[in-house]
Amino acid sequence: MNGSPLAPYAACPTCSKGRNHSESAPGYRTEYQRDRDRIVHSAAFRRLEYKTQVFVNHEGDLYRTRLTHSIEVAQIGRSIARALKLNEDLVEAIALAHDLGHTPFGHAGQEALNQCMADYGGFEHNLQSLRVVDELEERYAEFSGLNLTYETREGILKHCSKENAKFLGDIGLRFLNNEQASLEAQLTNLADAITYNNHDVDDGLRAGLITIEQLNEVSFFSEQYSVVKNSYPDLPKRRTIHETVRRMINRQVTDLITTSTALINKASPKTIDDIRTHNNSLIKFSDAIAQQHRALKQFLHQHLYQHHKVYRETIKSQQIISALFQAFMNHPRLLPQEHYNMLNKTQKHLGETGRARTIADYIAGMTDRYAITEYNKLFP
Ligand code: MG
Repeated sequence: MNGSPLAPYAACPTCSKGRNHSESAPGYRTEYQRDRDRIVHSAAFRRLEYKTQVFVNHEGDLYRTRLTHSIEVAQIGRSIARALKLNEDLVEAIALAHDLGHTPFGHAGQEALNQCMADYGGFEHNLQSLRVVDELEERYAEFSGLNLTYETREGILKHCSKENAKFLGDIGLRFLNNEQASLEAQLTNLADAITYNNHDVDDGLRAGLITIEQLNEVSFFSEQYSVVKNSYPDLPKRRTIHETVRRMINRQVTDLITTSTALINKASPKTIDDIRTHNNSLIKFSDAIAQQHRALKQFLHQHLYQHHKVYRETIKSQQIISALFQAFMNHPRLLPQEHYNMLNKTQKHLGETGRARTIADYIAGMTDRYAITEYNKLFP
């Protein structure tokens, strides 16, 4: 629990909107702590260790994976929550679960699976994360999924089209009614952005795909880098980079806390419902930092995510995902028995769309190395 009392508009575990299947209150932890614990014990969480963030898992031991990324989001998110007197436990639960629905091979995998699913409702990792915690995890006697609280599920589903929202019941309503999520959900979303922007700079430099000279064209980097260089001219390169990235994170986090505090004070919400019905998000960067943040993001898109070495991996992984999808669609008997049984069940209700969805669930759940092994077994 937080050391100081929570703000009156923070998410509060004793007034949660509850779980889909009612359960007795936990004895020695809060509802959100129970959510976090269920997430940590899930199979999907353990698989994050072997899923690519940007760099394919086997390229080196120091690069971020989806697991270390999620832990960093939880760390940054909790710091912000504490400063804003919001619920740290809820932020931690959302952060640890936010990427559970990611396919192997990062965004390349998601794009490939989305293309495969074009005629069957598409594939979107946010929706898939919700599907993992609502349906796909099989751990409890009484229900499928993890039966998480409304607030954690709300935070996991950070965006959603109105078309998809119609099929999601209570959790989709905010997209149809143009309402906001809790401040905890809003801040975890931005903690995610702060995290990947900064660790991708670090990983990109480590991989040698981007250089300090290039990064110095981005004001957000060069400002901090020059301060570090001037204060510690003899610091080795690796430590200079870490010190710079550390300061970049701190700059963004501090700005987010200051700007959001002012916005919250101005809106003076009394309850979490005031947050939800407010016409705008109250967790924001200042305009200046938001602009620098976007510039860094654009830089990373252009120079890192589209770097030819990353691109080569992208094409290879798209090939793997589409080949696996087609093979399972044409020959469902190739699936492991439990997935084959599931396919027969969903196909009965939903026809070919049900078949495709079961296959997408199976492929999305794969780790990078499992997908590569399956591919090599099927297409030697
Ligand atoms: Mg993320």
